[in-house]
Amino acid sequence: MSAPRVAVAPLDVGGAAPAAAAAAGPVETGRVALRNVSVWYGGVRALDDVTLEVPPRAVTALIGPSGCGKTTALRAINRLIELAPDARLTGRVELDGEDVYAPPTDVAALRQRVGMVFQRWNPFRRSIYENVAYGARLAGVGTRAELDALVELALRRAALWDEVRDRLRAGALTLSGGQQQRLCIARALAPQPEVLLLDEPASALDPVATQRIEELLYELRREVTIVIVTHNLQQAARASDYTAFLYAGRLVELDRSERLFTSPRDPRTEAYITGRYG
Ligand code: ADP
Ligand code: MG
Repeated sequence: MSAPRVAVAPLDVGGAAPAAAAAAGPVETGRVALRNVSVWYGGVRALDDVTLEVPPRAVTALIGPSGCGKTTALRAINRLIELAPDARLTGRVELDGEDVYAPPTDVAALRQRVGMVFQRWNPFRRSIYENVAYGARLAGVGTRAELDALVELALRRAALWDEVRDRLRAGALTLSGGQQQRLCIARALAPQPEVLLLDEPASALDPVATQRIEELLYELRREVTIVIVTHNLQQAARASDYTAFLYAGRLVELDRSERLFTSPRDPRTEAYITGRYG
């Protein structure tokens, strides 16, 4: 509980009348919802009728035992699920109210709006600059000056700029693990996504690097909707506004983190957070 907390949107984000929202100005972005989503890999059901409205502009931690469907839930959102040859999804996944699986969806554009960072940092074997410029180019940035500005902005947002500003042409693989992971976050941020998905981004990092990532998420959450999968319950309690507990492919509960970790409503959540399984 060391990071500062600010007020976030109420838990029920689905009730606002569209007409009222339209009258109030531009519709808020970064709204992700899964509605009755099930996912199968061949005959294995990995998600079972999951309905989850992700609180926008907040950090939501996704917790649960290994194999409960956390990674699948993230991959359902940006359609990475389709890369598994025998995967099948039913239900509806929405970004800002639109069905991301509807035929007109441009999948490449979707993945820029919904950035993803993986457990194993995976920078390209190129310079620090080029790693981030790749994301900026995807966003259609043309001139060199614009590209430079966007690279700097993304590196600043990923809290890496001060460490690399004098060595932007150095290879990305010369950075430490924690820096490489922040570089991957910068690369995901460069196209200015509305949503950032992180799949156990700190599980292979040391405590200092982990803390930097947590602080970074806390800063970013006012601008971007963040969903972070973590095995580390202390991390979920510390670094998230909300926590969702998945068990055996089902969403058991979603609540403000302080509440879920102190007075969970479901006995399965209590069993998990007190270490009785998982
Ligand atoms: P978690 O991230 O919570 O550990 P996953 O979403 O990776 O869980 O996996 C959920 C279930 O789906 C598990 O039973 C896992 O073995 C299975 N699974 C995940 N990916 C694949 C895949 N590409 N092919 C077949 N089964 C998969
Ligand atoms: Mg996983």
